[in-house]
Amino acid sequence: MPFPKNFIHISHPRYLEHDTGFSEHPEVAERLEEIKRRLQTLTGPGRVISREPAGPASQDWILKIHSEDYLLRFEETALSGLSHFGHPDNQLGYDTYEIALLAAGAGLTGIDLAEKERAAVIFCSVRPPGHHAEKAMALGFCFLNNVAIAARYWQEQHQRQRIAIIDFDAHHGNGIQAAFEESPEVFYLSLHEHPTFSFPGTGFAEEHGTGRGRGTTLNLPLLPGAGDAQVEKAFSRHIEPALADFQPDALIIAAGFDGHRLDEMSGLAYSSNLYRFLGQRLTALAAHHCQGRMVSILEGGYHLPSLGESFSEYCSGLWQSP
Ligand SMILES: [Zn+2]
Repeated sequence: MPFPKNFIHISHPRYLEHDTGFSEHPEVAERLEEIKRRLQTLTGPGRVISREPAGPASQDWILKIHSEDYLLRFEETALSGLSHFGHPDNQLGYDTYEIALLAAGAGLTGIDLAEKERAAVIFCSVRPPGHHAEKAMALGFCFLNNVAIAARYWQEQHQRQRIAIIDFDAHHGNGIQAAFEESPEVFYLSLHEHPTFSFPGTGFAEEHGTGRGRGTTLNLPLLPGAGDAQVEKAFSRHIEPALADFQPDALIIAAGFDGHRLDEMSGLAYSSNLYRFLGQRLTALAAHHCQGRMVSILEGGYHLPSLGESFSEYCSGLWQSP
């Protein structure tokens, strides 16, 4: 059961160039600058942080999740100078298509490193985020589903067949669920604000997967105002037993920090400390079930000081042996 020693932070300077246009848009480059600042505070005796640039994901891997027609439309829309793709939420600039390929590539770089260096904490700080993007639809600031592409890569490039994706962003990852709802080998587990009250309106507890994938989708919706205690209970009662039954070969974490009580993108009321709890428990699960193979990929988190603090707590938790 290896516990992590080294911290590998995967990012790319071009992520800062993804232009979401008007000033009120919450998904801004400053989010990654805040994370970068906090990264400095994580160093300490015996702790090594290495920084790796993400490589671009090749189109072959993107097409495991998205349709060719959608990719073409995305590229054409970006290059045409239009301000958004499909919906005004999905603001984009001339370079967004290329930058989105680099965002999808971060997870693949992380997975290659996780296979080489198992006892490492691996965090990918990317933008644009991904978990709302569907096969042929951009949604909620997301264009390419970074986490879903990474799951297929881990299966096909490294023959880790059973992948568990744990999504603790405040919103349901409709795109990840849609990609794998018929797949018995990818288990999607999501903790999020109840869809009756929250974007995107999916992720009811009754959604368990379909066909051969029935039973490998687990939605744990939380009422507005829910905080640390509700998450800790759901984790012990539902997530840990589900993973013990499923026996994953690798974990991918959709790490969104917008459930923080100061983040106005949800009605959830998590403290920064909750993210330390999540980091510790996820590290323990990865050590127990899959020799430490785990990669975390950034999703949401829009209140900058809370994002920084929550990221820092999460990484400290990932790095802290129980
Ligand atoms: Zn979110």
